[in-house]
Amino acid sequence: MSAGCGEGREIHVQEVALRDGLQSEAGFVATADKIALAERLAASGLRKIEISSFVSARAVPQLADAEAVFQGITRRPGAIYAALVPNVRGMERAIAARADEVNLVMSASESHNRTNLRRSGDASFQAIKEAAALAAAAGMRVAASLSCSFGCPFEGEIPAATILKWCRRLQEEAGIHSISLCDTTGMAYPALVRDLVGLVRQSNPAINLALHFHNTRGLGLANVFAGLEAGVIHFDAALAGIGGCPYAPGATGNICTEDLIHALEISGYRCGIDLDGLIGAAGELEKLLGHPTPGQVMKAGPRLRRYPADKPGPGA
Ligand code: ZN
Repeated sequence: MSAGCGEGREIHVQEVALRDGLQSEAGFVATADKIALAERLAASGLRKIEISSFVSARAVPQLADAEAVFQGITRRPGAIYAALVPNVRGMERAIAARADEVNLVMSASESHNRTNLRRSGDASFQAIKEAAALAAAAGMRVAASLSCSFGCPFEGEIPAATILKWCRRLQEEAGIHSISLCDTTGMAYPALVRDLVGLVRQSNPAINLALHFHNTRGLGLANVFAGLEAGVIHFDAALAGIGGCPYAPGATGNICTEDLIHALEISGYRCGIDLDGLIGAAGELEKLLGHPTPGQVMKAGPRLRRYPADKPGPGA
């Protein structure tokens, strides 16, 4: 392999442990601990951190303190503090809490949408449109997530035409240009990632595409590299690889942030992140949760370091 396979390209990672990760934890993490973790993540160089979700506290009690977390953090200049927003009511709360960016969510799978959000895909889309208009009026950044883009536990494969349709409608009708294709239940595989990303980018070159992978079947980082080859530069990941899949109890969670950063930087991509700082934060998080987490790099001991980009590596 040549030393410059990543060609020094800059990659942007959104950290989602505080939202996607904590929502599947059995226990409640104290607000002060969430705030301290968010600040530690920002200090390690992460530029976008999804720190909570404005869902109903009844649906997701682990994130019932979204307002308090937003109020409690000391915002680091240059960092974007994002929140997941499921509906118009959540949007109003996100505006009041001064979230920098909102992530509006619907599923690419009709049956997953009905099970998870308890309404049709069309109804979810209308709610997204309404919420996006509120966000735009408030001057907030808006992104949308399409759950189950790479497969659904009820429907199996989702036709590419369905993904293309929602991407086009989100962009043209809701004015949302940042779209995340989410592998909610970890069904994606590299060839599918390459093909689907290729189709979306070809039909919609103006979309700012992000990928959200879960490592449920061990293909998380392989899928990232397929996405990189297809031209994607935005990825979600969760510290220590926490998270889960409601349809696969006990399965591993999101792809792990520190494992992802290690894989990217050693391959020549630039992430601008203090990996040692991040590994320290992952250890803290594991202690906080009181159970082992899937993160690998933090337990693996000494690691190789990337040759400087201007010098050829061994075998170059
Ligand atoms: Zn997820």
